Amino acid sequence: MSQKPEKLIDKKGLRLDGRKPEELRSIKIEVGILPNADGSAYIQQGKNKILAGVYGPREMHPKHLARPDRTVLRCRYHMAPFSVQERKSPAPSRRDIELSKVIRESLQPAIFLEYYPRTGIDIFVEILQADGGTRCASITAASLALADAGIPMRDLVVACAAGKVDDTIVLDLMDTEDKKGGADVPVALMPNLNAITLLQMDGILTFEEFEKAVNLALKGCRKIYTMQKEALKAKYESVKEVEE
Ligand code: UDP
Repeated sequence: MSQKPEKLIDKKGLRLDGRKPEELRSIKIEVGILPNADGSAYIQQGKNKILAGVYGPREMHPKHLARPDRTVLRCRYHMAPFSVQERKSPAPSRRDIELSKVIRESLQPAIFLEYYPRTGIDIFVEILQADGGTRCASITAASLALADAGIPMRDLVVACAAGKVDDTIVLDLMDTEDKKGGADVPVALMPNLNAITLLQMDGILTFEEFEKAVNLALKGCRKIYTMQKEALKAKYESVKEVEE
């Protein structure tokens, strides 16, 4: 096995993949790629490859979970066994359960739950390939899948992490930076309402570093939001072309 490099930032101030500290990984987003789901989206962020599919609002099963005054949002985050270097068991891990909750809670404030009483909305997130920051990329894709399903929303939700590697605050950490770095701060944002729906921190930061990381993550969110909007527009432009 080759020795992993100790330094995460080189003398020129560049990261292991050649990015500057405030640079995002390359991002590709597609909306509406699963015809059998009510809504869907695919995101590639660096080496992450993630599919999100949405069903609903539809009749709630099991029925006793239905609520008389609103729809119930459910989310399943799942890593494919081949998504990481060491085979991941397909059974839900504690981490999968935590991330399912985190993603659901990040998206829930954006949805008009009260519009669809006694129903359920299911979000399925499949991680095909993981390289750090999958919760954030999943939120970005799942929010588009909800919009693609025609679910009325207050705003899109977009997410991005910032963190600390080698004493530098950097944007959009990949797996090695996440594991070997000092801290990771995932943030989800409703950009038009300017409301944060997720804020986590893993690692240790001073208050000043934390503030810098949050602001950098928010900057990243706003850049990804532009790509989200373009992906949504591209889907509806192609629908228009077919109709014409
Ligand atoms: N990871 C892994 N095996 C696992 C779970 C995670 O190799 O069973 C990797 C994967 O690349 C993931 C990264 O560890 O993206 C960081 O995981 P974390 O729990 O911090 O969540 P994420 O950063 O993906 O939101």
